[in-house]
Amino acid sequence: MHGTPARTRVAPSPTGDPHVGTAYQALFSKAVAEATGGQFLLRIEDTDRERYHEGSEAKIFRALRWLGLDWDEGPDVGGPHGPYRQSERTAIYREHAAMLLERGTAYRCFCTPERLTQLREERQAAKLPIRYDRHCAGLSAEESAARAEGEPHVLRLRVPDSGQTVGRDGCRGEVAFRNDEIDDQVLMKSDGFPTYHLANVVDDRLMGITHVIRGEEWLPSLPKHVLLYAAFGWEPPTFVHTPLLRNKDKSKLSKRKNPVSLDHYREEGFLPEALVNFLGTLGWSHPEEKDFFGYREFVERFDWSRLSLAGPIFDLDKLQHLNGLWIRSLTPEELRERLLSGGFSRFGEADERLLADAVELVQERLTRLGEFDEMAAFFFERPGIDEAASLVGKKATPEAVKEV
Ligand code: GLU
Repeated sequence: MHGTPARTRVAPSPTGDPHVGTAYQALFSKAVAEATGGQFLLRIEDTDRERYHEGSEAKIFRALRWLGLDWDEGPDVGGPHGPYRQSERTAIYREHAAMLLERGTAYRCFCTPERLTQLREERQAAKLPIRYDRHCAGLSAEESAARAEGEPHVLRLRVPDSGQTVGRDGCRGEVAFRNDEIDDQVLMKSDGFPTYHLANVVDDRLMGITHVIRGEEWLPSLPKHVLLYAAFGWEPPTFVHTPLLRNKDKSKLSKRKNPVSLDHYREEGFLPEALVNFLGTLGWSHPEEKDFFGYREFVERFDWSRLSLAGPIFDLDKLQHLNGLWIRSLTPEELRERLLSGGFSRFGEADERLLADAVELVQERLTRLGEFDEMAAFFFERPGIDEAASLVGKKATPEAVKEV
């Protein structure tokens, strides 16, 4: 892949354990930046204070670095377009909200929560799509400004009544949405904090992002974002929505059915190379139909035309298989080093020769580093009487043990 240098980003929200979906977005985003000689950024989207999770940000940093998906600009490494944490950018969002108000492309809404609830219930009962009825859209600038002095309010995007909004998706081509089906999205909440939509668009613009690569769950937001770019008078970036990762039963990947925390995979002894390789096979296919390839090769062979939009299955058996291949690709010394530095073996103090032999012997069958101790225990520990007896299929009588 070549072309003008792309600036891409991954923009996780620190709401819990680092998610495999974040790594998936980071992988594609970083690959596109690298393949074109551009930059890859990490931005923390922490404006939703209710879902904020202390410690989550540090876990995201650690997990992405463990995978080798490090960033050129970000909250911890800085860069020319910071700050890279949205909670530190509220003044920027307020300023931009004021710009939209000034241009008339957004308006203040004074509707009370009670009115909005009632509206929602009425529309629900009438089986209409849940949408704001634009009650406040017609207020004059004077009245709106006067009421803003004393009344709580939000800022909404002014969506055209008719016609359609066309978004371009790098993989899907043009996607058209009817304007009368798009909600007048809230951009600033009554507490003065932005919603995801405003903060995300403003940041992508100010950070010079050329390619917004994000999960398919954001496709319904595309028209709102296209309208928002237009509301500012800005050219939109290229959007690419990657397919939704799925559980084996084809439902959306969920932790009820499948571990989704990157920490889980590290702790179980998956190699970062294997996880990156696996993520690279989800939706994307190597031009030679290979399944086993590393990050470098992924970057070199990357091309959007090889991304299939059918939701790829997060198949743990396949991940395990790839992990076995990656484990076997290490030299025994490297494997021993990974086992010990990752804290996967309690036999680190054992005789060096013995450990080296055990590693070499077990390497062929190992699919996760976490299995090592169980497979290699007989090298280091004398069997107890019961175990010894069971080897000859007998009860632990002194005779049986002697026989063993
Ligand atoms: N904060 C959003 C998320 O975590 C980012 C989506 C995007 O990439 O725009 O899903």
